[in-house]
Amino acid sequence: MQPYQLIRSRRKTLALQINAQGDLQVRAPMRLSVKAIEQFITEKQHWINKKQTELKNQAPVKSNYQAGDLFLFLGENYPLKLVKIGEPLTFDQQYFYLNTQYQPAKSFRWFYKKEFEKIALPRLNYYAEKHSLAFNQIRFKAQKTRWGSCSAKNNINLNYLLMMAPMSVINSVVTHELAHIKHKNHSKDFYDFLREMMPDYKQADVWLKQHSQKLHNL
Ligand SMILES: [Zn+2]
Repeated sequence: MQPYQLIRSRRKTLALQINAQGDLQVRAPMRLSVKAIEQFITEKQHWINKKQTELKNQAPVKSNYQAGDLFLFLGENYPLKLVKIGEPLTFDQQYFYLNTQYQPAKSFRWFYKKEFEKIALPRLNYYAEKHSLAFNQIRFKAQKTRWGSCSAKNNINLNYLLMMAPMSVINSVVTHELAHIKHKNHSKDFYDFLREMMPDYKQADVWLKQHSQKLHNL
């Protein structure tokens, strides 16, 4: 039996609730036995698990950029330190250093974009050459709903917020967009080709689904 908070009152029925912290609260009539209550919880276990999972995957509270707050880089979390001089944001593989004289969200975007260009361009060139795919222009921009796109003219956009994702995820998005040079759709042929380039592309989709909120929460 998972832990739960029992709230008894003059009600006639049992009700379950998951609070904002993900804890289970049970509202029960005054004299209902614990056995009956726990039987009810067991019956509703599926619903409880579903609610708790949903809550866990929800957006974390937007950061207010305090010292110690964690920010992602290549799939790992690093704490923030606040400084008063230097570039808007620097990173030494241990800490992010945020210059408080600049606007924090802007500084993070500026930093992620700059770093993502350095990392994504070589990957793009590598896979394009390896699979003989010629792309036109490449643009890096933050988008709300897409991680990348490839136009009819083979212009590729990549979302620089991917700088927060693990390298395997970045490679997966890069190859996905490159695969569109050959197949302008999500047909079976497209996925066969993508699998050739990136056998475990599905893992990246899972990671992105799980972390999408966090990546958009600067
Ligand atoms: Zn696509």
